[in-house]
Amino acid sequence: SDFLSSSDPAIAELINDELQRQRDHLELIASENFTSAAVLAAQGSVLTNKYAEGLPGKRYYGGCEFIDKIEQVAIDRAKQIFGAAHANVQPHSGAQANFAVFLSLLQPGDKIMGMDLSHGGHLTHGSPVNFSGKWFQVSHYGVSQQTEQLDYDQIRELALRERPKLLICGYSAYPRIIDFQKFRSIADEIGAYLLADIAHIAGLVASGLHPDPIPHCHVVTTTTHKTLRGPRGGLILTGDAELGKKLDKSVFPGSQGGPLEHVIAGKAVAFGEALKPEFKTYSAQVIENARALAEQLQNRGLKLVSNGTDNHLILVDLRSVNLTGKQADQLVSTVNITANKNTIPFDPQSPFVTSGLRLGSPAMTTRGLGVGEFTEIANIISDRLLSPDSDVVTQDCRQRVAALCDRFPLYPHLEIPVPA
Ligand code: PLP
Repeated sequence: SDFLSSSDPAIAELINDELQRQRDHLELIASENFTSAAVLAAQGSVLTNKYAEGLPGKRYYGGCEFIDKIEQVAIDRAKQIFGAAHANVQPHSGAQANFAVFLSLLQPGDKIMGMDLSHGGHLTHGSPVNFSGKWFQVSHYGVSQQTEQLDYDQIRELALRERPKLLICGYSAYPRIIDFQKFRSIADEIGAYLLADIAHIAGLVASGLHPDPIPHCHVVTTTTHKTLRGPRGGLILTGDAELGKKLDKSVFPGSQGGPLEHVIAGKAVAFGEALKPEFKTYSAQVIENARALAEQLQNRGLKLVSNGTDNHLILVDLRSVNLTGKQADQLVSTVNITANKNTIPFDPQSPFVTSGLRLGSPAMTTRGLGVGEFTEIANIISDRLLSPDSDVVTQDCRQRVAALCDRFPLYPHLEIPVPA
């Protein structure tokens, strides 16, 4: 950071500002986390200088002898964590991982079926603004209106009618367990491929705290930066080694050029961390904290989509307190809480306004907060949302947020770079 502050003080100062923001806000965005200092170090390394098109031992560039070892460690650890026969650690992101899977399994114009974005699906599962919706024929399932949870009979019925070639499960805003076995039996009935996109829950799967998709799905994709707590990136896994070779070709040369080996080193470090017993303890705490947050918000009169959570996230249905997602997002941000507005199933509001607020526990659990602190967070959020016009409440909430942030320091070893 000394190098950066002397050579480019403007960028150094902005990084410094961002570090400070991360330190003095409660980070409740369900898809974010804080990587370890070791992951940061691997990412900010000389590996960024190296071209390594190809795979370990089969490169198109010289000088890959150390890169090969690093990428192989990442692959081996990913396979070990998830019990997969094959792993590709090169996708630059979760969206790139999904792109490569589509390229392997489908032709443009083929039929796919995933969850509606407004019910918790991801853009890459068939949204009309994404390649997945532009190049493929999409049908969407949603959650049941009564339970706000997956209804496998309804999904089966739709699948039998639509007969997609690819069925997708795994979501961005679904607080409940996914039954991969049920999805597989639906896929088998219509001869479809089954893709599980476990981007959100990968850390819980890695810890054995969510059912395992590998035995039931043809392909599993994930991001590495959410509950898995690694660097920003993607990962493809499969139990089928032959399909794995095809998936490798779809990543490179199919859809990417040179892999980001500095990020792959960060993935290797994070996978090593995920294999340690401490990570399981962490994941269990993530779930307990989400539950504590859910319970106290409900005690305070806020309704949750599906009335609770089994995983790391919750979705508040703000119609219960006559607010929109946009308003709630703004209200909590005035007291240094970062979250995001989110559509809820059957949302009467537009995607820009929404009726939901998505909250997650992974990042603040990394900072060390437990059930008591998450109950306090629920109280701060409730106080703020239930008194939208009170300056006194705002001041009080801000102080309580600051007290929590002070008690649980973030990256204390990182000196704040002082611009020259
Ligand atoms: N899949 C799911 C279910 C996600 O929630 C996300 C990210 O939000 C992605 C894929 C895409 O990941 P990325 O943002 O790394 O492209």
